[in-house]
Amino acid sequence: MKFGGTSMAGTERIRRVARIVRRQQAAGHEVAVVVSAMAGETDRLVTFCREANPLYDPAEYDVVVASGEQVTAGLLALTLQALGCRARSWLGWQMALHTVGAHAKARVTSIDTAALLASMAAGEIAVIPGFQGLSQDGRITTLGRGGSDTSAVAVAAAIGADRCDIYTDVDGVYTTDPRIVAKARKLKYVTYEEMLELASVGAKVLQTRSVGLAMKAGVRVQVLSSFIDDDAAPADDIPGTMIVSDAELDRIMKDQNMERQLITGIAHDKNEAKIILTRVPDRPGAVAHIFSPLAAAAINVDMIIQNVGREKGETDVTFTVPQADLARSQALLEGQKGAIGFNRIITDSKIAKISVVGVGMKSHAGVAATMFKALADRAINIQAISTSEIKVSVLIDEDETELAVRVLHTAYGLDTASEAA
Ligand code: ADP
Ligand code: ASP
Ligand code: MG
Repeated sequence: MKFGGTSMAGTERIRRVARIVRRQQAAGHEVAVVVSAMAGETDRLVTFCREANPLYDPAEYDVVVASGEQVTAGLLALTLQALGCRARSWLGWQMALHTVGAHAKARVTSIDTAALLASMAAGEIAVIPGFQGLSQDGRITTLGRGGSDTSAVAVAAAIGADRCDIYTDVDGVYTTDPRIVAKARKLKYVTYEEMLELASVGAKVLQTRSVGLAMKAGVRVQVLSSFIDDDAAPADDIPGTMIVSDAELDRIMKDQNMERQLITGIAHDKNEAKIILTRVPDRPGAVAHIFSPLAAAAINVDMIIQNVGREKGETDVTFTVPQADLARSQALLEGQKGAIGFNRIITDSKIAKISVVGVGMKSHAGVAATMFKALADRAINIQAISTSEIKVSVLIDEDETELAVRVLHTAYGLDTASEAA
């Protein structure tokens, strides 16, 4: 079971979580619980890091931001004990949950489960702070924002759990963020592939990596609400959203005589920033000079456009990076100004990426055209475009995010009152 930040925000909510956990145990299950920091806490800690040092050392950032989950793990264990359950916390370094890769976005490699499993078998509920791990050189790491989902799937895989229930503040995965579009539909099922793509383009209900890991390890993941009454149906019967394989969904749709939708969902992401380098020499190697230092610093570049060449063999190069990495990207590029040979750096954080996702578009033409037309009809300007086999993304002005999502939700026929699969 995993509970997110809103579910853990304060004594009363933690008590409700404890009751949900106790019920699951009473139903005969051995339970491991992964928790997030209280809502807003991680943002608060990140701000402290920025204030302390805008070009912060990611290793020390991890020490600071991992603390939020330590607090909620301890509090949930205490609350469970107050309800008469046996429970104990297992910090990332105590289990241990081993990670590799850059600080602030480390990847889980393995989890030592012997002691954990022995404790669970003896009837003790395991409470695990999400988001945190242990590096190869013994330091605290974190798994990237939203990383508690990945902690939960990793623990579920390591202990061979029957299912990984992700409890959050909405009761499932919707066709788009239900906080933006009231007419969004809850999906009973979504495939790993689609969920992976939706998450990677901004549907923050699950962290991207958690979906990739679940797909690889074959973990059954269900998304459901923690805002339920004490007399709600048990998790095994709750109508959340189940993440399933493509073959499984095909079977379910056939059984229920339903057709699969062309578009599964629409996502938006306001966490990217645009960088334009002007007057870059238009010659072989120029682009490599820009992106190599960013790659070496583990900064993920997303959309890239090399604009039409100017006169005198020069061109502008536009690309996006996570907003959190903008300051470091700028500093790195300024440091390479001589080698790259650009004229100016222009940055813009007031942008949003809007994406439509669906396996159905593999075999259908016109999905992108529908998107461009719907946005054009509302005079929304497209600054960049990228596509994959099952996704089309556009970059627009941040102020137009909500409008764009609503317009597209309607354009693809996703607005309805009833449930879809
Ligand atoms: P938690 O703190 O439980 O991890 P998050 O805030 O990370 O919760 O994720 C849940 C939120 O994801 C919801 O409150 C909702 O606003 C947002 N969200 C974005 N896209 C979707 C979607 N397609 N379906 C459901 N929720 C979505
Ligand atoms: N607390 C962390 C965050 O806000 C991890 C998580 O909640 O999943 O990103
Ligand atoms: Mg989350």
